[in-house]
This record gives sequence, structure tokens and C-alpha cells, in this order.
Amino acid sequence: MTWRRDDAHRIWIGGVSVAELVETFGTPLYVMDYATVVDRLGRYQAALAACDPPGLPYYAGKAFLCRALAGLLEERGVGLDVVSGGELATALAGGFDPRRILFHGNVKTRDEIAYGLAQGVGLWAVDSLDELALLDQMAGAAGVKAAIVLRLTPGIEAHTHAFIRTGQFDTKFGLAMAAGIAEGAVDAALAAPHLDLVGYHAHIGSQILEVEPFLANLERLLGFARDQYQRLGFWPEVLDVGGGLGVRYTPEDDPPPLEVVVEGMRELLRQWTPPDRSPPRLYMEPGRSVVAEAGVTLYRVGAIKTVPSGRRYLAVDGGMGDNIRPALYQAPYRAEVDGKVGEAVAATLAGRYCESGDILIAEQQWPADVAVGDVVAVLGTGAYNYTMASNYNRVPRPPVVAVREGQARVWVEGERWEDLYRLDRPWEPW
Ligand SMILES: *Cc1c(COP(=O)(O)O)cnc(C)c1O
Repeated sequence: MTWRRDDAHRIWIGGVSVAELVETFGTPLYVMDYATVVDRLGRYQAALAACDPPGLPYYAGKAFLCRALAGLLEERGVGLDVVSGGELATALAGGFDPRRILFHGNVKTRDEIAYGLAQGVGLWAVDSLDELALLDQMAGAAGVKAAIVLRLTPGIEAHTHAFIRTGQFDTKFGLAMAAGIAEGAVDAALAAPHLDLVGYHAHIGSQILEVEPFLANLERLLGFARDQYQRLGFWPEVLDVGGGLGVRYTPEDDPPPLEVVVEGMRELLRQWTPPDRSPPRLYMEPGRSVVAEAGVTLYRVGAIKTVPSGRRYLAVDGGMGDNIRPALYQAPYRAEVDGKVGEAVAATLAGRYCESGDILIAEQQWPADVAVGDVVAVLGTGAYNYTMASNYNRVPRPPVVAVREGQARVWVEGERWEDLYRLDRPWEPW
């Protein structure tokens, strides 16, 4: 993250001062540091390209996506995961090549499948037998063969919040590598005339801070692939191990470097590939670890209160509408005050929305002189903030501004009040 404080403790991001950003764009404001995004993409690309055969990162668009980012991803030549027609439309509007798009999701509607097939989406992750049959039938009707990976669940419990854990068998996602379920799906996929099974996928969860669950996941996939090779002679061209690498939201979070994870995976691919076959191409689907640390949300303090218990609240002009993660997952964040430093007073950072649960940071230490009107920068908000934003309380969504080497560029305009009722029909006496 290219942020720093100057001698007056003023915060600068991507060479632009926070003071200038809020002066120009107001608060709340999502800021994205271009250099961080490009660094993470480049590292994933380099690590996977060093595999033999070379692999590819498929950035998970659900973490953060807009036209400009789709254009940047296209410029970099990475792949892109989408989970809806809306994400696909955004990617295409940003000039992204559909051949490097992987269409995910546990319920893809007929309209979305038709749209993806018509646009030439390169790869589909099939999540259920129902979807397998539907995609086969619709690909046949469209006169194309759809390349697929089967989304499998390996039966692995990653140590992360229950809501972002997806590797265990009891989940709505994927086909279990148990009770013959995944085997049945391989049989069905190989028998489907309009589908081309290229491999397997498994994503075990998110904000994972250890290497071990990633290796266990790939080992499960490779073991399954070996079993199917013995049973059917089918060996995958692709293994897609999903996303999930954690990031540093607070100083306590200590994620392993992605290069270490990939190196461990290369070794497993070497070990498990049958002597008469070549190793599958390794795909990864990082979302959070590409964009989270690139993002900062700027707010202005609107009120400071001390309640009878002694707890102090700093309340800002945004909150759960622009960052639902603390309310949804008790996600931790850390904030800095522009122009002020120190760890003198404990306080809760609260939002402006009409919910007691609208808390951005349960407690942290603040400078002694923090005051109404100060600008607070919440760090690490680049993933699952803008994409999960809502208009609760009819508060407009903030703009997204990218910064690079002293320049700021709007990537997404902020909503105005009139945008909030743009789709409303006026009252007609009934
Ligand atoms: C959410 C998701 C990802 C991205 O996860 P991150 O934790 O953001 O890296 C990748 N693949 C699938 C299938 C997902 O559901």
C-alpha cells in the first residue's frame, strides 16, 4: 500500500494528499491505490506463469469490479471470474476479453447462461447436476461446446468465519467429493455432448491466513483426479484452486506470501501427476488479496459522545451502507486520523446508519485530540466494500477514486440524491 504520513502527520495515498482528495471528492470516499492492485496482479501472474505448464490468476470480480478495473485487468492479461450477468456485462463494457472469463455461481439463470454463451465466455464452473444438464442443453441449442470445470467440495474446514467458509461438505456450493457425488458429476460431464470437461475446481473459503489449507485442498483435488484417471482414464488439463488468501486488516493478521502458497502447490502438482501425463494448469482465483489492501475509505467525524458506561463513540458520515463487513462478519479494521497521531483514547468507530449494529471498528486507540471535522481513513477496504454497498437509509453510494503517482481519477462516480429515486414511479392516486 503506497500510503504514508508527512512531517505534519498528513496522510498521502498514491502520492495524493487525503486533504486534497476530500476537498475534491467529499466524504465518504473510496480510494483505490493503483500501484497496489498492479503489484498483486503481477505477483500472482509471475508465480503462476513460472509453473509448467504456465497457470493463470482469474481475479474474482465479486471483490471489486467496475469498468475501469476490467480495463486494467484486460491490459494486464489476467483472467476474470464473474458470478452474474451484471458482472459479465460490466467486464465486457470495460473491454475485457470473454475468452478469459470464468463464469461461477451456484445459480446461474437461463438468461445469464444464454448471455454468457452468446458472448463466448471461455470457461464455466458447474456447481450442480441440474446446472450441468441445463448448460449442456443450452450450449447445444446455441450450437457451441462449453468448456467446464466441476466445482467440487473437498471436505476441508478452513479456519475462517463460518459465513466465508465453503470447503466443508455441508455447504450450498459445489459437488461433494464424498458418497460418489463428484464421481457421478464426472460421468455426467463426460457423457454430455455439448460440454467439454477440462478439469476441477475447489474454493475453500476466504481470509485464510495459513498455507496448509490451500495445500490440503490441492491434494484433495489431485487425489480425486488420480482416482478418476484410474477409473476412466480422464486426466484434467486444469485444476482451479479458488481464492481465499487472507490480507492484513489489522497488525495481528499475518498472511503468508502468495509465492509461498504457489511454490507449495507446484511441488504437489509434480508429486501427484502420473508419469505418463503432464501436470494440470494451475488456476487461482484471488479477489481479496488483490484489492483489499489497495483500498482506503475516507470519512469525516460528525459527532463524538461518551456514554454513561464511559465508552466513547466517534461517529462518521458513512458506515454499513459502504462497508457491511463488520456488521456481517465482525470483520476487524483499523483506522488512521489525517493530521493526528497517538494512541491516547479508546473509542468505537460508529457509522451514520439507523442500526445499533452499524459499527465500523468495535474499539481502537485514537489520538488524544481527535475532533469533530477530522478525516478518518479506514484501511484495507478495497475488497467486498463497494461491491456489497447498499442504499440503506437512502444514502448515496460514495464515488471510487483511483490514485497513482500524484494523480487521482474517478473510476466510479458517486450517486446523487436524485439517483436514489431515478427508478421510482411517482404516486398515482389509487
Ligand atoms: C469468493 C470467491 C473467490 C475469491 O475469494 P477471495 O477470498 O476474495 O480471494 C474465488 N473463487 C470463488 C469460487 C469464490 O466464491
